[in-house]
Amino acid sequence: MYTGAMINLETKIEQLPKTGIKQAGKLRKLGIEKISDLIFHFPFRYDDYSQIENISKIYQGQATTIAGKIISANTSRTWKKRMAVTEILIRDGSGTIRAVWFNQPYLRDSLTAGKQIRLSGKVSSDANGLFFSNPAWEMAAREPTHTGRLVPVYPETEGLTSRWLRWQIQMVFKSGFQIADPVPAAITKKLNIPPLEKALKFIHFPKTKNEYLIARKRFAFEEMLLIQLKYLQIKSSWKNESSIKIKFDEKLIKNFVSSLPFQLTGAQKKSSWQILQDMGKPRPMNRLLNGDVGSGKTIVAALATLQTAENKYQTVIMAPTEILARQHFEEFCKLFANYNFKIALLTSSYKITNKNHDPNSKIKTAKPAKFSSLKNSEIENSLKIRKLKIENFNSHTNYKTIKREELLDNLQTGKFDILIGTHAVIQKDVRFKNLALIIVDEQHRFGVAQRAYLQQKTSEINDGIKNKAPHFLTMTATPIPRTLTMAFFGNLDISFLDEMPKNRKKIITKTVPSRDRTKIYEFVRAEIKKGRQAFVILPLIEESGAMAEVKAAVSEHKRLSEIIFPEFKVGLLHGRIKPKEKEKIMRDFQNKKCDILVSTSVVEVGIDIPNATVMLIEDADRFGLSQLHQFRGRVGRGKFQSYCFLFAEKSCQRLKILEKNSDGFKVAEKDLAIRGPGDFLGTRQSGLPDIAMENIANAKLIQISKEETRKLLASDPRLARYPLLRTALAKFEEKIHLE
Ligand code: ADP
Ligand code: MG
Repeated sequence: MYTGAMINLETKIEQLPKTGIKQAGKLRKLGIEKISDLIFHFPFRYDDYSQIENISKIYQGQATTIAGKIISANTSRTWKKRMAVTEILIRDGSGTIRAVWFNQPYLRDSLTAGKQIRLSGKVSSDANGLFFSNPAWEMAAREPTHTGRLVPVYPETEGLTSRWLRWQIQMVFKSGFQIADPVPAAITKKLNIPPLEKALKFIHFPKTKNEYLIARKRFAFEEMLLIQLKYLQIKSSWKNESSIKIKFDEKLIKNFVSSLPFQLTGAQKKSSWQILQDMGKPRPMNRLLNGDVGSGKTIVAALATLQTAENKYQTVIMAPTEILARQHFEEFCKLFANYNFKIALLTSSYKITNKNHDPNSKIKTAKPAKFSSLKNSEIENSLKIRKLKIENFNSHTNYKTIKREELLDNLQTGKFDILIGTHAVIQKDVRFKNLALIIVDEQHRFGVAQRAYLQQKTSEINDGIKNKAPHFLTMTATPIPRTLTMAFFGNLDISFLDEMPKNRKKIITKTVPSRDRTKIYEFVRAEIKKGRQAFVILPLIEESGAMAEVKAAVSEHKRLSEIIFPEFKVGLLHGRIKPKEKEKIMRDFQNKKCDILVSTSVVEVGIDIPNATVMLIEDADRFGLSQLHQFRGRVGRGKFQSYCFLFAEKSCQRLKILEKNSDGFKVAEKDLAIRGPGDFLGTRQSGLPDIAMENIANAKLIQISKEETRKLLASDPRLARYPLLRTALAKFEEKIHLE
């Protein structure tokens, strides 16, 4: 036994009784190292076993609880497999029923005749009538933990069950340890939400549904409060900054735009205009570009970069992964093939630049002044050459690998105009001569918190310009309904790319009952024979955690590569693959080294694989519509007609929305309407549905947290009176940094 004095939030998990090295290793897989991690390991579901039923009333298929006396018990071994089978007979006032457990020989000692027990589980039946198979159980005298209540179900890992977690968490609670609440008591009281300790108890061991709902609300509020605090702090420091004015040069922009092989959409024009106007002001821009996958955010970013580079200032562009950074690098080299800009790529594995400009090239730089004095025929001619250059730009002959030091040196002396990379670009030793524009492409995640973090981080960048802050542009592909964005981001400036480029082929989307999969496989086969490629996405497996998901992916990969498509190359991607390896697999797929890519939901969004035309999603009904829409966006990026097939067990009304709508904003709005805010944007692989996501949808909560934040900071800008809140904020920053 341990006492409360011995245990606190920082106590290592190994120090809990019955938690040896082995158990600790398993816990680590779930990210649990300290007591605090354990008690913040939240259930993702509750099974309602709170009603105790009369044995005479139960029926097959019912999930229920009974309580009674064991009148006989017997453990034997099966003849064939030598497996232990424990069978008991229980009686309550109304009748008797059997319960059977397999492979748990030790039950023999606990489940003996005469004992009063409680069972929860699903009722099965065989030739001998109704029975419980492997039900949860505990002694009737015990306080209900695993049975006879709302039973919490946790993300698990192999060898670590919810039962075990429940038991440990309850031990921690019983130890009488204390945890201080970072949210000021005045606020929890006023909003009538439970203080931390109570909320934790509610979330793990709720007596009623209302208890866990109100606990979730509290955690959502807390996270929102932290986000808002971070925001307001950054905003107030941002407000006092001044920035370089980047002159808006209409001719330059027009010239560039007309050299593109396509026309800008109205939304692209409008957004670019807003951004370029912002950058011309003496206050730093702080703008979010919100546009669906494929809406053409890169070009808008390129325009802002062009304007900056022409004014001889530097731009940095940050992408969440190496492969996306590289893709941007290639795209920018291509787009600026006619300009004399030096572009560098910096990630942990790449240090690359574009080669020097070919001095014999007909068009050295796009000189707007000269350009305007050209005759029409000359203009047309030069445009033609430009377009040809852009279209025929061959990446491989145009790059050069350089040393990191040289790259950094050139950056600091201003020889490089544009730096593209991953988080590697905000390392301490990266210095600029005159950085005036920061672009962050978040792509796959909403990352409200990350945004705040990055903004703070980037404000620490050594940009080489005294007393001036760079302009800041972030881009996100998560189609958040307009109303919600407004409520959430408040005073942040937002541009919407709510219009798709013309001539984009609609991705043909179909919901398919699982039994009709053969037809679809034939279709996939035909596409691949035409030279195309396909994605197969596997569902989230929430019940049993990440390991089960990996297993499912491995076995589906085996099935597809050995049985269904033995003639094709099938690649595999899942959450346990290291980032480096993951990049390589994506790259290989991009280079057509395999025909089909089987992946769990970790597949990178934002990556361009124009040759892929089929997106096949298993158990599609398990995903949120917005997430499905993001997956769908992986195809249809080239000139070929593309398809998205959604496998589902039963016909699902929700999925039909995707068949009918190709606009991500519309999909998000309809999803929101159907599922209610709580489920909007889907759930994560572990833990509660992402609380921050829930927040987005909960406009009222946002409003309240905003108000409270404002009041807090107004009375105490440095949170001097709230050390716990300050610590929570620092921890929160750390967390979002690591995510
Ligand atoms: P995202 O918004 O998802 O980042 P991208 O910027 O990668 O989208 O653009 C997707 C594709 O659409 C690219 O191949 C790009 O060249 C092309 N594209 C962008 N704008 C237009 C347009 N106005 N007309 C036609 N194609 C466009
Ligand atoms: Mg993009």
